Amino acid sequence: MPRILVNGYGTIGKRIAWAIKRSSDLELYGVVKTRPDYSAHLAHKNGIDIYVPSNEYIKSFEEHGISVKGVLEEALRKVDLVVDATPAKTGAMYKQLYTKYGVKAVFQGGEKHDIVDVSFNSLCNYDEAIGKNYVRVVSCNTTGLLRIICSLHRELGVRRVRAFIVRRGADPKEIKRGPINSIVLDPPTLPSHHGVDVKTVIPWLDITTAAVVIPTTLMHTHYLVIEVEDKANRSRVIEILENTPRILLVDSDKLGVKSTSELVEIARDTSRPRNDYFELLVWAQTITVNGREIVLVQSIHQEAIVVPENIDAIRAMLRLEEDKWKSIEKTDRELGVQHGWLL
Ligand code: NAD
Repeated sequence: MPRILVNGYGTIGKRIAWAIKRSSDLELYGVVKTRPDYSAHLAHKNGIDIYVPSNEYIKSFEEHGISVKGVLEEALRKVDLVVDATPAKTGAMYKQLYTKYGVKAVFQGGEKHDIVDVSFNSLCNYDEAIGKNYVRVVSCNTTGLLRIICSLHRELGVRRVRAFIVRRGADPKEIKRGPINSIVLDPPTLPSHHGVDVKTVIPWLDITTAAVVIPTTLMHTHYLVIEVEDKANRSRVIEILENTPRILLVDSDKLGVKSTSELVEIARDTSRPRNDYFELLVWAQTITVNGREIVLVQSIHQEAIVVPENIDAIRAMLRLEEDKWKSIEKTDRELGVQHGWLL
């Protein structure tokens, strides 16, 4: 079985490590940690082998009672692929090392497109990642945009997208980020980088985005205006979304919900692992269709949405599965990713 190392065990890395352990065709070789914090203790307790970037890190782990299996370079000699989930721009520095050991690498959205062969989204361009050495799973916002765009494009032909993005200020565990009392333009010019990032995967699209950051940690929310080639109607759009993997429609009338807080409460009440939504959540009552124009609002759990894409990227790069639908189906079955309607 291919051996996979996860370098960077934070918000994204620990979820990808969990997903690799749940994948029947992948082996989690170990994780690379820099600090002997609670997540290192938990990984250690759960029998995950811990590596550190270099020898000078070992002492602090041993002082905290965590045994270290080895250093990154030793692990790179043994693995088939590394998932780099280190902080933004750190992966670019590690790439040289991965290349030195001839190890394929999946990078995350905080890295630049130009360090990889392909920027990736399973529904949009799985085939382009087959056999590649360096692939970047785009950011949480970009993944959410690409899932909706590529699902509608397959059936109706998308030609133009305008999106307004309301971003969360920090992840729940982060205590040093903000804002705590502001709406911050991100950036104070147009367009925001999100549309540009979408084009790293589907360069043919006419897309412009604007973004603000607000004081919440739970989810991002997008308002989208999508122009399609074929005239559509609301029930057709709902039918397409119902049948697209990794998209969940939210019936706000039926469930009596209108906020990200209530979505998180549903995740808690239904015992989702870590309260995670791997799915893109589309607010059904917002879906409005006027000829060739589709308008909708969607929410994204930023901590989790990229996880299934990371597993598919690994499978494509290692040629474990060349059919994208088979990989998506396997990933979703093994991770419990749903589609259709929430509840
Ligand atoms: P994080 O800060 O939660 O986790 C990064 C981990 O890497 C931390 O545990 C940190 O201690 C460790 N680390 C720091 N320097 C390191 C080094 N030199 N070598 C090895 N490990 C090191 O960050 P995150 O939110 O998981 O983000 C990781 C990547 O995923 C970034 O590219 C980010 O842009 C992207 N991403 C984040 C989110 C999100 O909402 N958090 C969503 C999608 C994509």
